[in-house]
Amino acid sequence: MNNKLYDKLIFELSRQGRRGYSLPDRHFPDAIASFPDALLRKSDIGLPQADELTVVRHYTNMSTNNFGVDTGFYPLGSCTMKYNPKINEEMASDPVIASLHPDTPVRYCQGALAIYHTLAEALAEIGGMAEFTLNPYAGAHGELTGLMLCRAWHDSRGDRRRTKVIIPDSAHGTNPASAAVAGLQVVPVRSLPDGTVDVEALAPLLDDTVAAMMMTNPNTLGIFERQIPEIARMVHDAGALLYYDGANLNPMLGIARPGDMGFDIMHINLHKTFSTPHGGGGPGSGPVGVRKGLEHLLPNPRVIKKTDGTYDIISSPDAMGRVSSTLGNFAVVVRALSYILSLGADGLMEAGGLATLNANYIKESLRDLYELPVDTVCKHEFVFDGLKDKSTGVTTLNVAKRLLDYGFHAPTIYFPLLFHESLMIEPTETESLDTIDSFISAMRDIALEAASDPETVKSAPHTTPVRRPDDTDAALHPRLTFDEL
Ligand SMILES: *Cc1c(COP(=O)(O)O)cnc(C)c1O
Repeated sequence: MNNKLYDKLIFELSRQGRRGYSLPDRHFPDAIASFPDALLRKSDIGLPQADELTVVRHYTNMSTNNFGVDTGFYPLGSCTMKYNPKINEEMASDPVIASLHPDTPVRYCQGALAIYHTLAEALAEIGGMAEFTLNPYAGAHGELTGLMLCRAWHDSRGDRRRTKVIIPDSAHGTNPASAAVAGLQVVPVRSLPDGTVDVEALAPLLDDTVAAMMMTNPNTLGIFERQIPEIARMVHDAGALLYYDGANLNPMLGIARPGDMGFDIMHINLHKTFSTPHGGGGPGSGPVGVRKGLEHLLPNPRVIKKTDGTYDIISSPDAMGRVSSTLGNFAVVVRALSYILSLGADGLMEAGGLATLNANYIKESLRDLYELPVDTVCKHEFVFDGLKDKSTGVTTLNVAKRLLDYGFHAPTIYFPLLFHESLMIEPTETESLDTIDSFISAMRDIALEAASDPETVKSAPHTTPVRRPDDTDAALHPRLTFDEL
């Protein structure tokens, strides 16, 4: 239990003259005297002043007010990586790697270029693609890169009428957003009741104005699109390219490859599939892979391996252009390679299989109490449409909030938009059977509580440091600074 004193803002804990160090008053008198007077600060900077122990307690208490994967289970859907093995963090924070400057001349960073190139080759093998760039900084950035590359391909063939992108209605929101940013028009295609693309609805949409179709497989409901060879044939017959959103590739690792399914371009979220913490918006990495025949269009700069075994950074005149100022988020690249090498081919396959098993186990253990709108074997994740018993008035939001009282992070809620009460669960491969069983038991308790004592569920959480913040007010009137009273 935290002492409320240290929960105050550090500015509120500040007392004039308190400090956690002692240095002679004018420690660098000569240096200060040599600065031009105009550059010297005249007024107080207004930093908080506190003793060392107060600072330590304040920040340590703050860190325990937050929920993290190091303190409990995170069933958040469409998000994959939650637990990131510590060895990968150790690799990324090695001083040799962490202090590398992006402009280091190539002859001094051959090791870093080898890491980049080795990961790009591993991803090409995993995705069944010819070549990868690791430059894009996020999944959405990868989508944008892939779609711009697709435009560059059509343009290079003088085919300039292709301005549309077909996207299933179950897609992640970044798909239509990226298409719009790439200057392409979004054409939605509907899903069947089982969550897969309606091939009959797709056929009339395909013509010579379509640049690409974007797909996620397994899709956002965690369901494998069995019609994919047929869809690939239809898209290619129409002269368009097929784009694979591989943000959450984990159930496919070593089992099926987008390149073999007929995809031309894909991105992978390293921060979702290959071990990088990604709460709070970053840092990420969204490498883009292409099939044979499109490699020349990949963005500059590019890392190549020369015949003498050394590496170089080049700019190709054929490239689609540049999408990043550097070769991407290098620390994320290091973690991903560390993860892949430490698991090995067998370990990667096992991770996907376990993630799939865990998701199906939870689904089957809760389906008598929660509404299962798509009843089939899922991959790494699945979606409930709220509680089965709708008469209690207890919503998905209430269930998610009540889970916090049981010491679990909430699942993804109200996404995908296909159902009113979506509650999306993705356990991943790292959780023990005991943890999963205790989550199932909490979900069952909450469902029973919703019937016997709905008010307790509706007013949850009861035990967290902050209860129900007004999300709308916080978004409309953010208070981001501390005004001294
Ligand atoms: C997370 C996600 C994205 C977007 O990735 P960001 O790195 O957040 O930009 C795209 N597609 C799917 C299916 C995702 O789950």
